[in-house]
Amino acid sequence: MQNRVPLIAGNWKMHKNCSEAESTAEELVKLVSDVKNVDIMIAPSFVSLALVNKKINGSNISLGAQNIFWEKEGAFTGEISKDMLISAGCTYVIIGHSERRQYFNETDETVNKKIKTTLASGLKPVLCIGETEQERESKKTFSVLDKQIKNGLQSFILEDLDSLSIAYEPVWAIGTGKTATKEQAQEVHNFIRSLISKEFNSKLASAMRIIYGGSVKPDNISQLMNMSDIDGALVGGASLKSETFSKIVKFK
Ligand code: PEP
Repeated sequence: MQNRVPLIAGNWKMHKNCSEAESTAEELVKLVSDVKNVDIMIAPSFVSLALVNKKINGSNISLGAQNIFWEKEGAFTGEISKDMLISAGCTYVIIGHSERRQYFNETDETVNKKIKTTLASGLKPVLCIGETEQERESKKTFSVLDKQIKNGLQSFILEDLDSLSIAYEPVWAIGTGKTATKEQAQEVHNFIRSLISKEFNSKLASAMRIIYGGSVKPDNISQLMNMSDIDGALVGGASLKSETFSKIVKFK
């Protein structure tokens, strides 16, 4: 890895009620207080955002949201706006997670609008991309990622993208216990960085954080982080317990 500060992010998905979220955050603050030079983010459910923010206030942990809607406000029942996320204390927004693509009709086009809104509001997007098992087996991994990146980032200009991170999350590795090997992950991360270089420029590509997600655990994080193009992790299941997640954060 070059001079990129690693990002280790915990996606709590639809887990934890308000008090569980508060206590996990409280524990995590203590467990990772000595960690330096790693950006740490947790993304609880919307109802816990403001509560968790109070617990992590002043710590080295940032708050992330699991989704955003692109309209400013209005009759959009069940959606959440950038102003709401900012007022709850968010810094990051996870966009285009494969579960949202799979279950909630998220497309590259909606992802594109969400990234636009996120960047315009000063929040930092984490764009999730990844191929299914079938796509990998039929050797479509690179073409799928190419499309997700080109369409997801369509019509952005270079200056827009400083705060964007990309999470490569092979769908077949999410919540399955199957992790991509470090070589498989490195190969794809390198492909993504080259594509960003081609589409935008090499300076942006070498500064951009490309993180890996898919059954990351305390016992596989170090080997992944040793690869030159892997700049962190997006962690689902193993982020739910503060102690386990803290071990991932302290991967060195
Ligand atoms: C995720 O939700 O982004 C994820 C990678 O989940 P898990 O770590 O459980 O595979």
